[in-house]
Amino acid sequence: MSQIRLGDLTIDRVVEGEGKAFFPGYIFPDADDAGVAAEKHWMEPNFLDTYSGRLLQGNATFVVRRPGMVLLVDTCVGNDKDRPSSKTWHKLSTDWMDQLNALGVQPDDVTHVFNTHLHVDHCGWNTRLDGDRWVPTFPNAKYLFPKDEFDFWANPANDTVTGTGANDGSYADSVLPVYDAGLARLIEAGGRGGDGAFWFESAAGHAPGQLTLHMDAGTEQLVFTGDLFHSPLQIARPEWSSKFDVDRSGAADARRQFIAKHGDADSMILSAHVCTPNAGRIVTEGGKSIFRLLKDL
Ligand SMILES: [Zn+2]
Repeated sequence: MSQIRLGDLTIDRVVEGEGKAFFPGYIFPDADDAGVAAEKHWMEPNFLDTYSGRLLQGNATFVVRRPGMVLLVDTCVGNDKDRPSSKTWHKLSTDWMDQLNALGVQPDDVTHVFNTHLHVDHCGWNTRLDGDRWVPTFPNAKYLFPKDEFDFWANPANDTVTGTGANDGSYADSVLPVYDAGLARLIEAGGRGGDGAFWFESAAGHAPGQLTLHMDAGTEQLVFTGDLFHSPLQIARPEWSSKFDVDRSGAADARRQFIAKHGDADSMILSAHVCTPNAGRIVTEGGKSIFRLLKDL
């Protein structure tokens, strides 16, 4: 995504990785071939790979800047993390930090870090390795953690609750060091942050305490949706919950409510796992809600 500018506000993305990912039927156990085929006309070529039939997905951090504020939304998997449950995430060594620096942002500049939820692929760059210790990557930032997430993952018994999406100890190496350094703020739906510049709403279901972040920007409302949906396919088929959702019917309900509120509205949807380009809207076409990239509207 090239930079989005809205008044004094800019939005960039730092991409940890993106490309061909899961088959729809793998990540969405209720998806059937005929149902997926019915959505191809708008899913291709940005969200579904024509030749392989795989979803196109990515993982990225949003960098949201306005005078006095550098906000990071979700912090990917991170480098050097021990993640034995996932070949693709184990001991990563990506250029994520170089990309952030190339935007003109140094770690000391970051004022706020928000994790929509505390899954392993959303909190990794919260910390970095310093010798043999994990230390906060952004020492001047307030880290905004959903309180219900923080409490849930504090229980070691929950660390494997998502099965193949197991957190692999990410609470211990990517959340707790931030809390112990006194940089964490535990937030709840209805709360505000950034001196009132943004607010949080519940998107529980995928994870027990997932929150979306909302911000007014002129006539637009920016909405950072985390994993409320893993693919735009779920805008047309909100009942297709991900196998990684801790509460699959709750996740479907959250999507339906979100689509009802933000469909055909001036809401810019910025989702964790949509590839580049990323920003889009929920629009009604042919009597059905679908996702369109802003560049295509
Ligand atoms: Zn995720």
